[in-house]
Amino acid sequence: MTDVQPLKPISNSAQDRQALIAARMQYYRDLGIYDFYRRGEPLENAAWLENLSAVSGEVQYQNSIDVEEQEISARKPFPPAPAIAEIVDPAKRAQALNVIRQDIGECTRCTLSAGRNKIVFGDGNPNARLLFVGEGPGADEDAQGLPFVGRAGQLLNNMINAMGLSREQVYIANIVKCRPPGNRVPEPEEAHTCTQFLFRQIDVIRPEVIVALGSTAATYLLGGKSPLNALRGRVHSVRDARLIVTYHPAYLLRDPAQKKEAWKDLQIAMAELGLSPPAREQSTKTP
Ligand code: SF4
Repeated sequence: MTDVQPLKPISNSAQDRQALIAARMQYYRDLGIYDFYRRGEPLENAAWLENLSAVSGEVQYQNSIDVEEQEISARKPFPPAPAIAEIVDPAKRAQALNVIRQDIGECTRCTLSAGRNKIVFGDGNPNARLLFVGEGPGADEDAQGLPFVGRAGQLLNNMINAMGLSREQVYIANIVKCRPPGNRVPEPEEAHTCTQFLFRQIDVIRPEVIVALGSTAATYLLGGKSPLNALRGRVHSVRDARLIVTYHPAYLLRDPAQKKEAWKDLQIAMAELGLSPPAREQSTKTP
């Protein structure tokens, strides 16, 4: 019978760690493995990437996944969304939207009122099956009081047309109804204050599908922040509607290569609505 040596407890000393490594190497050699390759630096060690802009002043490192998203500070937990209201008779929805507009009045409920020209309530068909929600008005929208009327609005029109729809058939609104100064991302307090009206609009219109245009819209509709690309490509549920997340048209103007991806998202929305693209759009052509 072979003598079995009692196992010695292994400490974390340098000597014991060296002994363990030597034993493991011997084990691999016994298996006939002699060549070893070291893996690349793990990502968490690649902090130098982040510092490129500070070093060169020219090169900027951006996370390619979330370049579309500006930072949304989440200082407080999201308040629960209000209960879904009763269904409004389709014939009375335009009137119900007018009541919400009157309730808003010359709103000063949040700090965005200070710099706005016009409140951008929302626009479109009160019985729309499809609702687009963006972030907030820009300069053109602030001047005209209508959502998505600038260059990004023209691209959104093209996207809607590519789906086989007209702008008059859908409804378009934003998370906040007043233009944030310098087109900055709305602060959480501003967004939470203003979305009470958006939620009421959604409850009146009862869209079957909502398309969230960009990270801010997705964040405040879904009640929490996630990377945009983690939200794309699937169907969410918001206030009895199905929600699809895609890029904001303003982002697509800056990075047209992403239009193909946005088109995939719109095709999910179309499938949910039972729509087929117009014949001339059935190619791989994107808006
Ligand atoms: S953004 Fe909304 S809550 Fe804030 S002032 Fe404008 S309408 Fe009122």
